[in-house]
Amino acid sequence: MTTGVRISRAVAIAAVVGMASGCSPGAADDQSDSGPVKVAAGFYPLRFLAERIGGPDAEVTGLTPPGTEPHDLTLTGPARAAAEEAEVMIYAGEDYQPEVTDVVRQRSGDMTALDILAVSELDLLHADKHHHGHGGDRHADEDSHDHSGDQRAVDPHVWLDPLRYQRVADAVTETLARERPERRASFEQRRDELKVQLRDVHRHLRDATSDCASRTLITNHAAFGYLADRYDLEQVPIAGLSPEHEPDPGTLARIATEARRANVSTIFAEEGIPAKLARAVADEAGAEVGVLAVIEFAPTSGDGADGGDYVSRMHANADALQAGLDCR
Ligand SMILES: [Zn+2]
Repeated sequence: MTTGVRISRAVAIAAVVGMASGCSPGAADDQSDSGPVKVAAGFYPLRFLAERIGGPDAEVTGLTPPGTEPHDLTLTGPARAAAEEAEVMIYAGEDYQPEVTDVVRQRSGDMTALDILAVSELDLLHADKHHHGHGGDRHADEDSHDHSGDQRAVDPHVWLDPLRYQRVADAVTETLARERPERRASFEQRRDELKVQLRDVHRHLRDATSDCASRTLITNHAAFGYLADRYDLEQVPIAGLSPEHEPDPGTLARIATEARRANVSTIFAEEGIPAKLARAVADEAGAEVGVLAVIEFAPTSGDGADGGDYVSRMHANADALQAGLDCR
């Protein structure tokens, strides 16, 4: 217990309202303004971290409604209210959810903002890294990105690499502990418990993909760059960084050709999103359609998906990769 200095102000406040009997910091907290930290999280993987690490010491609101695609979220109703009242906002860079970024800008100085893409040593990837080794630029991507000038946009999907996600968990822990220093030990304990699970996810993915007939990962949108980077796979996204950046027929045909050349037996669609693109490429390439969870929205909100959470969906991803890439 090292909270002697830090709780002195809370104890003083408690004394004023007549709660100074006993010595429980918890009792003092309840009477001061340091109840659970109010956290707003841009989308599911960030909410998951805040909920798991925050536990009863955080009141977490996810800003992306269930079943909604979080790219380019429109903030309305209770989500906007939560964003405007939060003490801590967790979000992913400038471009992923611009309306969330706007709130962060408007409320700078008045709340703590944690940009997960600014976490140190994340080794961020850029959109054009997805094109590496695929024979040059994809015209569909160039066209869809030209107007915004973000051809070097940072890939926001860091949570799909469990080791990078651990670093984000550390940053969430630090942020919460700075807001409520007296609860640091609780945040850290829950973080450590979560990290054990994330390490298991990592080992499962590593072992599942260690010996595969194909290392080419053809995905619906470019969400798996970090996972591919971690486990030495080659991601070939059908759409761009955002699922709505749909490719032209020429691109589809090119990817199908590449699939045949790389002996790809499975094209991966995304859990909770229509498999239209993956199906088109699979038909063209004579391949099957598999399913990976991008986990951009809560897994319980999918179309008949059996729920679960980040950890269980990532284990399912490991199994799907093992089957789809014909790994031993
Ligand atoms: Zn995405």
